[in-house]
Amino acid sequence: MPELPEVEVTRRGIAPTVEGHVLRRLVVREHRFRWPVPAELPAIVAGQTVRSAARRGKYLLLEMASGTLILHLGMSGSLRHVHPDEAPRLHDHVDFVFDTGTLRFHDPRRFGAVLWHPAEDGPILQHKLLANLGIEPFDPAFDADLLFRRTRGRTQPVKQTLLGGDIVVGVGNIYASESLFRAGIHPTTPAGRISLKRYGRLADAVRETLTLALESGGSTLRDYVGAGGESGYFQIEARVYDRAGLPCRVCATPIRRIVQGQRATYFCPRCQRG
Ligand SMILES: [Zn+2]
Repeated sequence: MPELPEVEVTRRGIAPTVEGHVLRRLVVREHRFRWPVPAELPAIVAGQTVRSAARRGKYLLLEMASGTLILHLGMSGSLRHVHPDEAPRLHDHVDFVFDTGTLRFHDPRRFGAVLWHPAEDGPILQHKLLANLGIEPFDPAFDADLLFRRTRGRTQPVKQTLLGGDIVVGVGNIYASESLFRAGIHPTTPAGRISLKRYGRLADAVRETLTLALESGGSTLRDYVGAGGESGYFQIEARVYDRAGLPCRVCATPIRRIVQGQRATYFCPRCQRG
């Protein structure tokens, strides 16, 4: 599944093609995604200039004069630069045709989304899909204080709190295990019992982990401007994830695997404390 680093790299990858350029045509070969593509959307956006390519959480936002085109890659989506004459392959569902190039949206599982938010409906960040998202991990306000304040009274394990997305967005399953290892925090620790100081380490660890993923993704892209492979994750050198039974890279204790909320969690029982 494309995670925040993949979506951010996609945003950086498409920005030169779309920002300040006119969307000549939107070609919709398949309307049925997580939500249907509005039938009138190609007529609305054709001829409009994209003012900016932004991102909020895992949503890409192409801002235009009369509104914002919202794009989500879902479970299996990717955007690829193609030659305008290249025949679409299976699951190539939507084309964004610019003078600067054509972007092709490929989504075999169709959990993605292509939606429209008219400017008259208010600020895009108030859209119902965006309004309740947690803070961006690279926002300077994502810090020890915010994590500490927002978790008081929470008995839920810290790993699930990170995955929840209502406090901070973008910490997917792999990144949650990796960040907790870097911060030395045991994944089952109740979120409300973690100190301010340790939350400072966790905020730093989240940013470090996501930065590594962004760097690895940024160096592997060419045609694909987003996640294209089956794994969906950029290759970060995992310290704990998927390393059950292997020696901890710090202390050599075997890494353990547990299941929390139907998701695998990996941790070092010695380096990570409750
Ligand atoms: Zn260890």
